[in-house]
Amino acid sequence: MTENWKFETQAVRAGFDWDPETRSVVPPIYQTTSFAFDDTQHGADLFNLKVPGNIYTRIMNPTTDILEKRVAALEGGVAALALASGMTAISYAIHNITEAGDNIVSAATLYGGTYTLFAHQLPQMGVQVRFADHRDPASFETLIDGQTRAIFCETIGNPLGNVTDVPALAEIAHRHGIPLIVDNTVPSPYLFRPVEHGADVVVHAMTKYLGGHGNSIGGVIVDSGKFPWAEYADKFPRLSSPEVSYHGVVYTEAFGAAAYVARARTVPLRNLGGALSPFNAFLILQGIETLPLRMDRICDNAMAVANFLAEHPKVASVQYAGRPDHPDHALVKKLMGGRASGVISFRIQAADGRAAGARFQDALKLFLRLVNIGDAKSLACHPASTTHRQLDAQELAQAGVHENMVRLSVGVEHVDDLLADLDQALAAV
Ligand SMILES: *Cc1c(COP(=O)(O)O)cnc(C)c1O
Repeated sequence: MTENWKFETQAVRAGFDWDPETRSVVPPIYQTTSFAFDDTQHGADLFNLKVPGNIYTRIMNPTTDILEKRVAALEGGVAALALASGMTAISYAIHNITEAGDNIVSAATLYGGTYTLFAHQLPQMGVQVRFADHRDPASFETLIDGQTRAIFCETIGNPLGNVTDVPALAEIAHRHGIPLIVDNTVPSPYLFRPVEHGADVVVHAMTKYLGGHGNSIGGVIVDSGKFPWAEYADKFPRLSSPEVSYHGVVYTEAFGAAAYVARARTVPLRNLGGALSPFNAFLILQGIETLPLRMDRICDNAMAVANFLAEHPKVASVQYAGRPDHPDHALVKKLMGGRASGVISFRIQAADGRAAGARFQDALKLFLRLVNIGDAKSLACHPASTTHRQLDAQELAQAGVHENMVRLSVGVEHVDDLLADLDQALAAV
């Protein structure tokens, strides 16, 4: 595989040339649970990690391996681990380097599932999560103490489109000897490659832009290979001392730069079991081939949609970091060339915001009413009547999700059809 290939070329070719046995040019789907050993010794060597090879699809699979290599190449990492969902990737990424008594510092503005994991489940397991303000890197630093094991943030937040200063957080994390873990789902590596800006670990919901067609749930952890785990052995003993649950392997010695992702495979994945199906790996690989093309169209369409909404008399405000009036626009320009992906939220001008949001959503004919992002198809969601319906008006405002707010995930359709659908749905409000 050629490291010098440009992003677009890696997207269609990284991780797989063609199958030397069958000459298949499409990655085969290895739909098998298990892989045969030559003999007892071969089986023993595989289990001892003495020879490379496949054992059981919960831990590794050749189709999934191609996907892992491709995503690692696109993110500029040394290795990747594909998992059953974005939430599996996030929970294993934290679990891999924390235990009861430790804490992490995270941006407070997060994808809803991640917020719930951090605010409730991790603390129940003894890992505290301290929430900082994504617009104020200094607020992260004041929360770090001797038990802090990572900083976490989203590069572009879902649903608010907030952008985080990844280089500033990486600098703070490294000054305190801890890694920066970022969720890069919304921009995808095509718009932003966090490893080049100091992030140590990158996670994705491949469910969204990487897969790109709304057909597969999947997640991935990418290891930059740059964090010096052995140097901070007191903080990360599991990576640099013998692994009790895997016959004494020392990850930093056996796997070098890929120590973190190797442990994520042999401990959290092997023991907790959130494996990706090879069929989903295949579908996501197909999706990744057109990631650059889709993202170009999505960014153009989203910019046109955001500008159209901002001019519309029935729209009170638009949140899209691609527009100069968004508070994070300067960061999007600095880090992502001004392109802010396809998630837009806006607020409808109405006396009864909850009813207006519902009426707007019901009037849509082309935008699909559902709770996903990153599809080739355009999607709309009224959080106050769906994802956030248990919250009252005040709680909604605290979460930055107002009663009259609608979230759009702009797809690749013709922009004229998108604008016409939004116009007629706004007319119905
Ligand atoms: C959807 C999403 C997730 C969770 O991914 P799943 O595949 O649904 O588990 C995590 N982070 C962000 C930013 C997301 O949009």
